Amino acid sequence: MSKVFSPGRALPVADVPQWDIVTDVAIVGFGAAGSCAAIEARNAGATVDIFELASAPGGSASWSGGEVYVGGSGGTAIQREHGFEDKTEDLHNYLMMSGGPAADKKKVGLYSEHAADHYTWLEAQGVPFKGTYLPGKWIEPPTDDTLIWSGNEKAWPFSAHSKPAPRGHTVQFKGWGGGKLFMEKLCEQAVKLGVNAHYDARALCLITDTEGAVKGLVVRVAGKELFVQAHKGVILSAGGFIGNPEMLERYAPQALDSDPITGGNDNGSGIRMGISVGATTLNMQEFFVTIPFFPPDSLVKGIFINERSQRFINEDTYHGRVGRHVIQQPNGRAWLLVDNDIFGRPLIQPDMNIAAVGETWEEIEEELELEPGSLVATIAEFNRHAAEGKDPYFHKSEEWLRPFQTPPFAAISYCQDDIKTHAFTLGGLATQPTGEVLNADGQVIAGLYAAGRTACGLPRWGEGYSSGMSLGDSTFFGRQAGLSAASITNG
Ligand SMILES: Cc1cc2nc3c(=O)[nH]c(=O)nc-3n(C[C@H](O)[C@H](O)[C@H](O)COP(=O)(O)OP(=O)(O)OC[C@H]3O[C@@H](n4cnc5c(N)ncnc54)[C@H](O)[C@@H]3O)c2cc1C
Repeated sequence: MSKVFSPGRALPVADVPQWDIVTDVAIVGFGAAGSCAAIEARNAGATVDIFELASAPGGSASWSGGEVYVGGSGGTAIQREHGFEDKTEDLHNYLMMSGGPAADKKKVGLYSEHAADHYTWLEAQGVPFKGTYLPGKWIEPPTDDTLIWSGNEKAWPFSAHSKPAPRGHTVQFKGWGGGKLFMEKLCEQAVKLGVNAHYDARALCLITDTEGAVKGLVVRVAGKELFVQAHKGVILSAGGFIGNPEMLERYAPQALDSDPITGGNDNGSGIRMGISVGATTLNMQEFFVTIPFFPPDSLVKGIFINERSQRFINEDTYHGRVGRHVIQQPNGRAWLLVDNDIFGRPLIQPDMNIAAVGETWEEIEEELELEPGSLVATIAEFNRHAAEGKDPYFHKSEEWLRPFQTPPFAAISYCQDDIKTHAFTLGGLATQPTGEVLNADGQVIAGLYAAGRTACGLPRWGEGYSSGMSLGDSTFFGRQAGLSAASITNG
């Protein structure tokens, strides 16, 4: 009877019948982290075999906007060219806040020091950046410009602790979806350097010795199980687990309400393989969520309220942060209030339910069945301060502040059943900045590395995520994992 292999169970080396492939570094997943790990390991002189379960490389990253979050060191060439100084300390402070209560100081430190160089490195691998700046508030640039404000930089509380600078660096590609080009360049480079790429190759489980050190993995290629020996180490870069409902139910049940943001294979197999050899996980409950908010950016001038008629967020903050707060409101009920001057239908979901329309706020209050007087009081308070360019409770910046003045007024429903949300996971294996995977005692598991969404990296808190942080983290820490694995003398 043939053996059943599972990512949740490692195979003892004694049970390996033969080694079908022998390499220095074996990598699971040819996406953002895997491609960069492969390039660096190969450049460091290691033989590299990369196993990708899809028929082509690229992973979720090839569906992405191709935007990386970088800066610091005074600014990348493009930041400086457009007059933005970006001190390492500011990037550092921003990333520490973005990581939330469990931010990883060591990873943030390393990334902040080298993020500007990483941008240059990406260019050197062939990723094209046009070098032009697009002002305004964007999710991805609709043009082929390559520098945008992509996160919370100008919004409170981030702006109070870190001098704002635009840090979203997007591959030169007109419209959304530049990730395809971004990944084509990185994957081409890996193959050009002599990385052995195996497609339709699913990693099934890790192989360990009696000491618990990782010695290789089992992969299935064309229906056949192959045993791969990795002298220097195995790098898990198989993405996150947004596509695995059982794992979501266990770790991040709230994300089950959202459609997955994925290229299709974020099924948690990398994380499960890590757990199978004693790795610990971090922040598994965290995810990035999008809601259909702006564009049009006039909607940012509206205010969100919950069923108690209370505001709960400065609406000019990053849409993922707004989204995270919206879905946390009591009974999943929230509305965006607008007047006639700023009304618009969210581009992403134009058929949004308009829950109430009225000539007065009393009418809106009644239609939404809110406590009599509660909404009217909230609006009066907001209008009074907004007229002076102030928002003492939530610190929305003056740029987006204006009192409501032109009826009809409307409430766009962001109640849970009325909106389509999308999410990807931010929790994963605990790793060192080198990519070495840690067990529950904080000890390194010999021979095992992880990067990208298989690991818990820089982006690890839904309230703090900014566009570009996942690709920035995956590519940068993929490189570290590749370098570290290649430098091991005898695994
Ligand atoms: C539409 C969209 C837009 C996005 N835009 C951005 C953006 O602009 N900026 C940003 O920072 N992030 C963005 N993201 C998120 C970002 O793309 C991912 O978080 C990022 O790709 C994670 O990199 P990774 O290397 O961990 O995973 P991936 O790039 O997904 O690579 C993982 C690879 O592992 C493979 N794999 C999985 N399991 C196995 C297995 N058992 N055996 C072999 N192979 C396996 C997968 O097929 C995949 O190719 C976006 C995502 C989407 C879907």
